[in-house]
Amino acid sequence: MTQYPHLLAPLSLGHVTLKNRVLMGSMHTGLEETGDWNRVAEFYAERARGDVGLMVTGGMAPNREGGVFPGAAGLYNDNDIENHRLVTDRVHQAGGRIAMQILHAGRYAYGKDCVSASAVKSPISPFVPRELDEEGIEKQIADIVTAAIRAKQAGYDGVEVMGSEGYFLNQFLVTHTNRRTDRWGGPYENRMRLPVEVVRRVRQAVGSDFILIYRISLIDLVPNGSTWDEVVTLARAIQEAGASILNTGIGWHEARVPTIATSVPRAAFAHLTGRLRGEVGIPVITSNRINTPEVAEGLLASGMADMVSMARPFLADPDFVAKAASGRAAEIAPCIACNQACLDHTFSGKLSSCLVNPRACHETVLTYEHAQTPQRIAVVGAGPAGLMAAKVAALRGHKVVLFDQSTELGGQLNLAKQVPGKEEFHGLVAWFAHETHRLGVELRLGAAVDVADLAGFDQVIVASGVSPRDPQIPGQERAKSYLQVLQGAPIGKRVAIVGAGGIGFDVAEYLVANGPSATLNPAEWRKEWGVGDPAETSGGLCEPTPVPPAREVWLLQRKAEKPGRGLGKTTGWIHRAALAAKGVKMLGGVSYERITDEGLWITRDGQPQLLAVDDVVLCAGQLPARGLYDRLVAAGITAHVIGGADVAAELDAKRAIDQGARLAARL
Ligand code: FAD
Ligand code: NAP
Ligand code: SF4
Repeated sequence: MTQYPHLLAPLSLGHVTLKNRVLMGSMHTGLEETGDWNRVAEFYAERARGDVGLMVTGGMAPNREGGVFPGAAGLYNDNDIENHRLVTDRVHQAGGRIAMQILHAGRYAYGKDCVSASAVKSPISPFVPRELDEEGIEKQIADIVTAAIRAKQAGYDGVEVMGSEGYFLNQFLVTHTNRRTDRWGGPYENRMRLPVEVVRRVRQAVGSDFILIYRISLIDLVPNGSTWDEVVTLARAIQEAGASILNTGIGWHEARVPTIATSVPRAAFAHLTGRLRGEVGIPVITSNRINTPEVAEGLLASGMADMVSMARPFLADPDFVAKAASGRAAEIAPCIACNQACLDHTFSGKLSSCLVNPRACHETVLTYEHAQTPQRIAVVGAGPAGLMAAKVAALRGHKVVLFDQSTELGGQLNLAKQVPGKEEFHGLVAWFAHETHRLGVELRLGAAVDVADLAGFDQVIVASGVSPRDPQIPGQERAKSYLQVLQGAPIGKRVAIVGAGGIGFDVAEYLVANGPSATLNPAEWRKEWGVGDPAETSGGLCEPTPVPPAREVWLLQRKAEKPGRGLGKTTGWIHRAALAAKGVKMLGGVSYERITDEGLWITRDGQPQLLAVDDVVLCAGQLPARGLYDRLVAAGITAHVIGGADVAAELDAKRAIDQGARLAARL
């Protein structure tokens, strides 16, 4: 008897039955743009072998003006069909099903030829779109229909028409972006004409034996967004026009409310899918911040949806469904919703991967082959670098001993998980602990090791991490380190933080938190971010009411720029907005003079100033802790060094894990 009866139940769509209720949601990985379609095919085939019910590809542009960026992958002409055929064949051979997403970006297309309902510029693009005339609208519809026909010719099981997230079709729906007065603008029946017409004509063109998913925006989270009545009206019209399934989208890309970051509560928006489900007769899919089979099963069992969409969790683990189905859920590598290797890469023009699974999108180039000659391998340091090296080496058949001076596995991840909004790190540490146990890694915890302890191993891997940098501020013996603070040292009501890197920001969030983390309390979280009920306010926006901060905090750096510029591309704004909402004063261009009983003396704009704080917390960066490595080298022992012990600058868990995996893959 499975633990997940609802998740694993088949879903009939009439002409076809999906083997379970799990959809791998659309993700732009950048793989298509490499031109290596074998690699694209292997990415999807690996996930098909992992038994996901249905996959949706990354967004494919129906024409040049609709591409998210110049050169974005699409299905513009018949020559592209062959490449897509490689993908669909490989997926079908693996027993999977795949639909192609048709994504017209409208005013979000990064190029001067972008088009939209009206010439209204988006705040996240420098380009003013061209307002389409009647002929232009007809061309866009025709191009979308042609892309759907080509998708069918390429062997896809269906298409997903992207109508949410503020893209082209969504732009016609709301007065925020549609100022037209012709039959495509004005009253709602006119504004919804385009998406309905697209679905109607796509269905007409592809026939009834083809899955047609429409992705509908449930809550726009922008001013003058759709009302709930409009969402329901549209959903019914889309059903009538021939859609097989409604997938749901949350928030436009320009929304100032986080919708998928790690600090967003799990399944925070699923109640809206549940509400829509009662209004239509076709299956409805829920999405956003669902990353475990338990959460997914709970949503289906409570009637919130007919199917669950997870996207990033399939980067973290292609075998998510197969593991859940075979009673091995604890083996599922957890997506921690960090965006660090997926969306942050996409938005920097880099190929996507995954912080917890460096093989994601590198399936053909990073493989964990069984070792020809098993070796005895010592790994010193059970932070993410050492844990991943130990896991991969053991998976390959090596005999691994993992040492840590702490009695706990996880290294600095154990500090990260103390930060409100970073609770997912608990799951990451638990997964590593499960995997080392499962793979027979021998643990020797609770004592620092040195050269003498490492005799007799074939290979030694040093993953001893970092030490906090000494900022050499006169009087700093009065200050505390971030380590002490995150381990629970008592802290006063007024605090200055020296250093505004990732750790400075996290320490600030920890210090202003007043009560339990809002990430674990969806209702509280919605109040903090001003997420209302779309049945009461259009777009679902209301006035944010954050809980008052527990402390008055100054977050400081020497660089004369806005603190937080180096934070993650897709999440930095969330950290800055969260701290601003708690009144944190973020100052750049600071010189630290001294720390006295009165507080922290600084100079800024040439003016000396006293910050009369009770405590100063040092978050001034880190240096490699490589004493052990140097001693091994001096003793003539060859060792490998990875993670923070190798290079501390710009270190994060992504690099630590990646380095651990790649080293262990070649030993
Ligand atoms: P560490 O995690 O430092 O592990 C080193 C281990 O070696 C330790 O467990 C230590 O006890 C052990 N050790 C050292 N010397 C010896 C010895 N001689 N004998 C035995 N054991 C020894 N990164 C991200 O990517 N995303 C985040 O959101 C994020 N948030 C963070 C939040 C906070 C508050 C902190 C502090 C860090 C955060 N990081 C984050 C950074 C991330 O945790 C580190 O980059 C990562 O842990 C470094 O991995 P590592 O394995 O190299 O070293
Ligand atoms: P960091 O990001 O390098 O930031 C160090 C901070 O200290 C900077 O603000 C720097 O700014 C300041 N600083 C440097 N030298 C100083 C000195 N001598 N005196 C005073 N201030 C000094 O390092 P971190 O905050 O320690 O983070 C460590 C790593 O963990 C980072 O690389 C980060 O990627 C990772 N991390 C990531 C996240 C995440 O959410 N992705 C969260 C936490 C940590 P000035 O030089 O301008 O003063
Ligand atoms: Fe999830 Fe982070 Fe991996 Fe992206 S990089 S898939 S958010 S764990």
